[in-house]
Amino acid sequence: MSALPFRIGFGEDAHRLEAGRPLVLGGVPVPHAELGAVAHSDGDAVLHAVADALLSGLALGDIGQYFPDTAAEWAGMDSRVIVARALELVRERGYAPGNVAVVVTLDRPKLGPLRADIARSVAALLSLPESEVGVSFKTSEGLAPAHVQTRVTALLVRAGEG
Ligand SMILES: [Zn+2]
Repeated sequence: MSALPFRIGFGEDAHRLEAGRPLVLGGVPVPHAELGAVAHSDGDAVLHAVADALLSGLALGDIGQYFPDTAAEWAGMDSRVIVARALELVRERGYAPGNVAVVVTLDRPKLGPLRADIARSVAALLSLPESEVGVSFKTSEGLAPAHVQTRVTALLVRAGEG
């Protein structure tokens, strides 16, 4: 058991984008996306980074260990299942998410109109108020137009603290 009342987790994810595939970020389908994620699962780069942030905060490894992308059973899976599992592991160790910060780097489409939807969706998955989920959007400035990149930090709070 950790001696620390608070622990910080960091997660990162990226997917290549292709025409004819859906784009889902934070559990929210992105309308009018010309390109979607190439992935074994639903390719939700926000939720993959959220799950890795939860796991890394308690040194529990990464989602590849729990959901190997070679396993047929996870093909096309809803990434909300991955976050739920990571959250369960965090809670088993006596911690809960405090707040999370999400950064999404994507050139197109502009995600600003989805900011509240993504924050609400991620907050609901983590049983947090929407105000505890920060969502920032960046572009690659044309360096990686067929690519989505995400970074997430998560504060984990031990039960009885805060
Ligand atoms: Zn991913």
